[in-house]
Amino acid sequence: PAPITCTGLARIHDNGVMALDPLDLTFAPGRTTALIGPSGCGKSTLLRLIAGLDRPTAGEVLIAGLPPARQAAQGAIAMAFQDPSLLPWLTLRRNIALARKLARQPANPGLVDRLIGLVGLEGFHETRPAALSGGMRQRAAIARALVTQPRVLLLDEPFGAVDELTRRQLARDLPPLWQPLGTTTVLVTHSVDEAVLLSDRILVLSPRPARVVADLAVPLPHPRA
Ligand code: ADP
Ligand code: ADP
Repeated sequence: PAPITCTGLARIHDNGVMALDPLDLTFAPGRTTALIGPSGCGKSTLLRLIAGLDRPTAGEVLIAGLPPARQAAQGAIAMAFQDPSLLPWLTLRRNIALARKLARQPANPGLVDRLIGLVGLEGFHETRPAALSGGMRQRAAIARALVTQPRVLLLDEPFGAVDELTRRQLARDLPPLWQPLGTTTVLVTHSVDEAVLLSDRILVLSPRPARVVADLAVPLPHPRA
């Protein structure tokens, strides 16, 4: 289990934009938190800092007591962002299998196959990304993130291009994959629906620089349709 703590976290981008005010936040291990807030308030910035993709201007992020870069190097952090960036020359199956290899984990073809089915891409194992729709590529990215069975899962608008019905199915089918692993999940979304379906906590952020204006518990059991 990997708690995430953000202490005095601030980020001023290279162009001088202050994306985060000093922000103190804790994400409890095994919980799923949705971040919602106006466009441009700093949600993606926060996610990138947690992922170790950007450095804070001040303050720090610790994941189970270690800097994100250390956890990432151990393959403990998985991400699915809006733009799935699958490797175009690899089949779906190989794209997903590669994530385990990059995380220095042993191959697990059974898990790869199961995840492809669970995200509704049965029959597309040997298809290359260009032949998949935008929504299908996003679902592939989610399978790729889950195949490493990460301690921390970061999702940035992962269902933006997924149609409404499929989105509901995913909201029902996916959390049972990461919940038993004790994965700490942070989800950025514009959809209150998605936040309520997927998460057990919703943080509402202010316009930039992001501050927490509401910290809401989503009652269990989830009202999953
Ligand atoms: P959100 O995800 O909530 O829409 P972002 O974190 O993407 O917000 O952006 C917060 C603010 O920082 C915005 O004003 C955005 O334009 C700016 N910003 C984001 N990334 C960069 C960057 N790499 N360089 C400069 N400014 C950036
Ligand atoms: P398979 O066992 O189905 O051939 P692999 O998982 O071994 O698939 O490899 C899938 C593809 O990923 C191969 O084309 C291989 O060249 C490529 N690949 C494997 N490891 C790496 C790596 N560390 N960096 C970049 N590409 C890699």
